[in-house]
Amino acid sequence: MSNKQPFSFEFSAPKTNEAAKKVTQVHAKLIKYSPDFFSVTYGAGGSTRDGTKQTVLNLAKSGSNVAPHISFGGDDAETIGALLREYKFAGINRLVALRGDRPSGTGGSVKMFHANELVQLIRQLSGDHFHIDVAAYPEIHPESETVESEINFFKQKVEAGANSAITQYFFNADAYFGFRDLCKRQDINIPIIPGIMPITNYTGIKRFSELCGAEIPRWLEKQLQSFTTQPDALLAFGADVVTDLCQRLLRGGAPSLHFYTMNRSFPTMTILENLNS
Ligand code: FAD
Repeated sequence: MSNKQPFSFEFSAPKTNEAAKKVTQVHAKLIKYSPDFFSVTYGAGGSTRDGTKQTVLNLAKSGSNVAPHISFGGDDAETIGALLREYKFAGINRLVALRGDRPSGTGGSVKMFHANELVQLIRQLSGDHFHIDVAAYPEIHPESETVESEINFFKQKVEAGANSAITQYFFNADAYFGFRDLCKRQDINIPIIPGIMPITNYTGIKRFSELCGAEIPRWLEKQLQSFTTQPDALLAFGADVVTDLCQRLLRGGAPSLHFYTMNRSFPTMTILENLNS
């Protein structure tokens, strides 16, 4: 696999100084892969607004292309406008625009602005300055009732001005190809970048997958369960499974790969080294 294969890496916004240091260290290790960009998440309800901004500005200062994640959270259009101006001033030209997760404990009571509304606002306030990524769900967002509504709402984000999309992670390459085909049939032609989740432990991936609606195929779940007392063997097995997934996606025409690093370098680097070998 050529070194020219485009990649991007995602960091979770740090909430402590210790976590911020970790991001800096992981960034220093991943930079050698010359990623298209690093993205930094935005905590549910805007809970990491300052941590996200600080991390983005630090990474940008070091010369990397950085794409902050952004959502309305509890903010108004004016606050979003001020944040956009700060990012523009700092040389940021890419954003990941999201509705965002519901802050925990709020149930369905909080009004959430859909991502298409945010994309529209960013275009109104900043014209074409930012390349805007939005989220896509090959296995269908947990709140979506039908595949049709999923595709229709995805199309609204594209029509509002999204340039490309990054998917929720999945372990079944066919889910991605099927979703891409459905989009093409609806005349949605933006690049759809697969989101890749390295597998590092069973309980974590199980809990997270239940929350975000990602399916762990039965064969994979059974294998992971068999490694619960052998963490190193699980890491090696997980890296092989995810490398195979990446290879299938790239062979099938995926435009790039976006790694959810979970602020760790080793799992992502193992997969990248496998891909490059
Ligand atoms: P939307 O596109 O608004 O969709 C949410 C749901 O509402 C879907 O079911 C959709 O079909 C439906 N819908 C969409 N538009 C409408 C409409 N106009 N009317 C009615 N229904 C509609 N979460 C965070 O909190 N912070 C992050 O940094 C973050 N980063 C992420 C990065 C990626 C690449 C991905 C895939 C997810 C990320 N998430 C993040 C999780 C994301 O916020 C959740 O999945 C959230 O539940 C949906 O966000 P969205 O932008 O996809 O929402």
